[in-house]
This record gives sequence, structure tokens and C-alpha cells, in this order.
Amino acid sequence: MFFQQGGDRNKMGQIITLDQNMINMIAAGEVIERPASVVKELMENSIDVGATKITISIEDGGRKLISVTDDGCGMDAEDLAKAFEPHTTSKIKNSDDLYNISTLGFRGEALASIASVAQVKAVSRTKDSAEASCIEIDCGNKNAVRACSADFGTTIQVRDIFYKLPARRKFLKTANTEISHIIEQFTRIALGCHFVGDTFQKSNERKQPNLQSGSAASRNLNLALIHNGRELYRLSGNQGLRQRIAELFPMLSVGTYEDFIAAESDEKGLHISVLLGTPNCSKTTNKFQYIFLNGRFIRDKFISHAIKEAYRGLVEPDRFPVAFLFIQMPYEDYDVNVHPTKIEVRFYNSNLVYSQVLACLREKLLSTNLEVRAKLPVAASVLAKEIAPAAGRRNQNIADAIAEFLKKHRPAQTSPQAGFTAKNYYPAAKTGTGVQYSTEPVANRSSPQTIAEQRNFIQIHDSFIVAQTEDGFVIIDQHALHERILYEHLCKRITAGRLESQKLLIPESFELAAGQVDVIEEHAELFEKLGIELTPFGPRTMAIQAFPTLLANAAPTDFVQDLIGLLDHKETGLDAEKLLDEVLNMAACKGAIKAGQKLSDSEIEQLLADRAYTESASRCPHGRPTTIRFSMTDLEKQFKRT
Ligand code: ADP
Ligand code: MG
Repeated sequence: MFFQQGGDRNKMGQIITLDQNMINMIAAGEVIERPASVVKELMENSIDVGATKITISIEDGGRKLISVTDDGCGMDAEDLAKAFEPHTTSKIKNSDDLYNISTLGFRGEALASIASVAQVKAVSRTKDSAEASCIEIDCGNKNAVRACSADFGTTIQVRDIFYKLPARRKFLKTANTEISHIIEQFTRIALGCHFVGDTFQKSNERKQPNLQSGSAASRNLNLALIHNGRELYRLSGNQGLRQRIAELFPMLSVGTYEDFIAAESDEKGLHISVLLGTPNCSKTTNKFQYIFLNGRFIRDKFISHAIKEAYRGLVEPDRFPVAFLFIQMPYEDYDVNVHPTKIEVRFYNSNLVYSQVLACLREKLLSTNLEVRAKLPVAASVLAKEIAPAAGRRNQNIADAIAEFLKKHRPAQTSPQAGFTAKNYYPAAKTGTGVQYSTEPVANRSSPQTIAEQRNFIQIHDSFIVAQTEDGFVIIDQHALHERILYEHLCKRITAGRLESQKLLIPESFELAAGQVDVIEEHAELFEKLGIELTPFGPRTMAIQAFPTLLANAAPTDFVQDLIGLLDHKETGLDAEKLLDEVLNMAACKGAIKAGQKLSDSEIEQLLADRAYTESASRCPHGRPTTIRFSMTDLEKQFKRT
């Protein structure tokens, strides 16, 4: 097969010059990956021309239509025709300008690329012109500009993207996935341009960075994103940054102020402003780390590393803190012309950027009291969220009734610790296996007195169980042992089919990061096997309807989010069996009782009983021991009795 391909090599000697449309299509391959890239380029153009209002309307995840309307400076007929030619820009003129780029765009290839792969219609009017101009381009075939009537500003409509490129069209995912990518681009731009606006005044006073009006520093930008006629976001230009973040990330509770710390520094030509999530709201993915440089969203390994370092010792090594970091510095101190979509830049002094970011974040984190505040039990917080806004008397009654129900079904002897409360979702949880944190009060099963009389174990420091054995005693790590037991149960059940699951009393909804919708689609079978039932609740919101009974001890939302994070991090094509094993390991760890958790006597009894039936109960799935054994002989030796 390879040789057959090589047969074409004979033709390779004949060099031809590609026609312009081919050149554009090739360029489009770099810049226009999917509908979200079109949204990015068009929004950036609108910001560059000083728009204060941008409305983005999408149909079918952008496959059918992407329309962006702004109230910027507009274009006259001549410019409108030129704008769609390759390498046409109003943003740079000579090579010096390349090293001082204050606009989001400058390469002059976005419009030409977009128009080479879709049906495009652009209508534009400058403020001082009485009539608007309109141009239509179908995959590179341009019609003449004609006059039309329209409001001032520009509207660009992009229809049926890649319709003449079936290979690329096929690559597009479902509308849900595409819209989640669009939301991600929208979010980045909404944050980037907003913040530059926020400090525009201050920066100008300092004369550094030298942000000009009409540049990336658009202020007071009102943004709306509409999908299939439904408004997903309407962001007002005069809202504060926190409020904007809160609207874009409802799941981060930024609006409550408690979980986020603001820090700022202004030294050595670098202005840093950052909103930091406390360690307890860290994530399994770095998707909640946003870095902006003079209003442009960027990815930078150095800066990401600085964030990681700043949190060293404060979050577990495999978790990622949430951070919104805004850097302003002179344009001439870095090069943006190193990546086609400009997502990476080259700092001329990256060490300085690294050390300033690290110092700013670290100092703030170390000087802040980061004690973890006790969280409301999951059930209560869900109730508050679902019911509080409606605040009617009827709702209050329902809330009271459910709260009463949950209270009644809480086990009598255990203290209501967070993480131990999930079982309240399973009013009749009885699987016959695993440690039964059932809803039945302990006293009903056997009287506490009999247990006290018979018992030959104690729990120490709410973490270890010391139990008498025939020839001595054992010390058991309660978490490690339960993890092992759970792991085996999970493996057995999954080999037999799927995990038993139970409907949640109240579905729990949560937000996904961009691209994570893909993960759910890709691993639909796995979710099904695990007995996790998810239903879409919005473009990036999912609701957990059912959750595995065996994991009654884990909080569903935390678990599912971590699971998605884990799957998201796995390279594709990983052996399905290995992946399943990793997932089960994680499930066992999360579903197991924790160290520091007080157990009732019957729970300990159950744990010890399960231990007897579990293969390799002496090691947890990670290989750590679950049990340390002491024989009478050991003791006698120690006490010098023998
Ligand atoms: P670039 O943004 O790199 O200059 P583009 O292909 O995206 O390249 O745009 C080409 C030119 O078209 C821009 O430089 C600008 O002059 C003009 N243009 C693009 N979008 C708009 C808009 N929404 N309003 C006014 N002019 C625009
Ligand atoms: Mg552009």
C-alpha cells in the first residue's frame, strides 16, 4: 500500500503554482479548525474595530450558521471587497509594526480563510455613510459588492462551513460539542477584553502598557451569545470582572467571593492582576486556568508552571488550582507572531514573567488564611440552590418535607460529615454487598449493649481499627481496606454486566469545561457500564440522574466531574481494559470510607465481615497494606515473656 502511494511520486517532479483559492484553503486549515475558530476570529475583528456591542447568533452548533454583528467602525464598499482578499489588513503596515502589536488580529488571513471554506455574506456600514455595502462569497467565489441598507457596523454570516470539504465537515462533532467549543472561545474573549477595559484608565496613567483606544482594550463591551434562538449569555459591558466570571462560570461560585482571592502586583513593567481559587476548589483539569496577556487569551508553559509552584504544598500534586490571571506589559516585550491562532507568544524575558507571577501569587496565598470551611452536606446545598430562588411558600414546604425525610434517614450513630451524606440519596439502599451504610438506624439491627459486650475491636483516631484475632490482633487502615473491598465488588459487578444504580432523589447538575462534552460522548458506554446516567441540561450543563449504588459514600457531582477529568486526560486509544481498571481504582478510592471518619460499631462489623470474604484484602488497590498483624508470640517476645 505504501509503495502504491509512492507510485505517485513519479509525478512529483511537476511543480505547479497553487491558485489563490487553494492557498486560502490551506491557510484555513491552520486557522479555521471548527465553527468555534470562526467565532473567535470574527469576535476579535469586532473588538479590534472598537465595537461596544457584539451579538453572536449560532445555529446547529455553527454547522448551519455563525452570525456576528457589531457596532464597530464598519467598512466602506472598497474595504469590504478587500477584506476578504488574502493578506489584507488595516492593522499593520510595516515590519516595525510586527513588533508592537496592540490588536488581536494582524495576519490578514482570517476573513479570506473563512470565505474559502463556507458561504459568507458580509454587510457593513461606516458611521458617516448613508448606505451599507454587501458582499457574498461562496467558497472563494466572490460576487461584486452591492449597496444595501443596514445599521452602522458590520454583520458577517457564515453558513454551511466546510460544505465543499466533506472530509473536514465529517470531522465536526455534534451541535452540543461544537457549541461548547464556541462557548469556550466566547468565554476567553469575554474575559480578556473585559479586563483590559477594567484597568485601561490605570494603565494609561502609568503610560505602560501603552494601550491605545480601539485596540484590544475595548471597554464596556456588551456581549450576547444565542444558540438556535435561545440566549445562552448576555453580558453587560459595565459589570465587574467577578460578576462576569460568575456569569460565565456559574459552577465556580466566584460570585460568593469566599472561594476566590484577588491579588495584584505592578513591578518591573509588568502589571499582574489575578483572581485565585482557594485550594479546596481545585480541579482535576487545568481547564479552569485562564491566562490573558494584554487582553489576549494565551497558553504558556512557564506561567502555568508558576501557578503550579505558587500552590505547591497547598493542593495535591495531581490537582489544578482555579486561576484567572491577567498580565499587562508593553507590546514590544513579546512576540505574538509565533503561532497561527496566536495562542502562544514568545516573551523576550520569560524568566521575569515567571518570577513575577510566582511571587505575586505565592505571597498572596501564603498571607491568606486558607483553612477549609466546612461545606454544607451535598443534599442541603442542592436543596438551597434548587429551591431558594423560587422562595414561595409551597417550595418552602417541599424543602422542609425533604429535609425532614433526609434527617430521618440519616444513620443514628455517625456524625453528619461531608462525604458521608451521599447515602441519604438512597432511601432504600440495600445491595447485600459492601459496607452497608444503610439508612436503617443501627439500634434497630442489634442493641448497642450487645455490641459493646461482644465487640473485640476499637476504632482509634477515627482512622484505624484494632481488632482481636484468634492468635493476636490486627491494625486495619479503614480507608485502605474499604477501598480494596469496594474495588473487588466493582470489578465483579462490572464483569457480570453493569453496576447497579439508583435514581437520585434530586438530580445533581454541573457544568462542563469546553471539550468535555466530547469526553462524555466518547465514553458513553463506560458511563452506561458504571450505572451513571447523565442527561444534557444545557449546552454545557449535565444532570446526574442515576448513580451507582456501590458508591453511595461518594458525592455524585464530585465523582462524575473527577471521572470526566480523568478520562479527559487519557490519551486516546488507551487499552480499554486498563482504562476501566483506572476508573474502578478511582471509584473505589472515592467511594471508600475516609480516614478521620467515625464509624458505628455495626459499620466496623460489616467491614470486618467483608474483609474475610475479600481476596487480597491485605493490600489496597494501590498496593499499600490494609492490615498489620500482631501475633501473641510477637507480643510475648516484646514483653520478654519468652
Ligand atoms: P486581520 O484581523 O488580521 O487584519 P482579517 O482577515 O480578520 O485580518 O480582517 C481583514 C480586515 O478586515 C481587518 O484588518 C479590518 O480592517 C477589516 N475588518 C474585519 N472585520 C471587520 C469588522 N467587523 N468591522 C470592520 N472592519 C473589519
Ligand atoms: Mg482578524
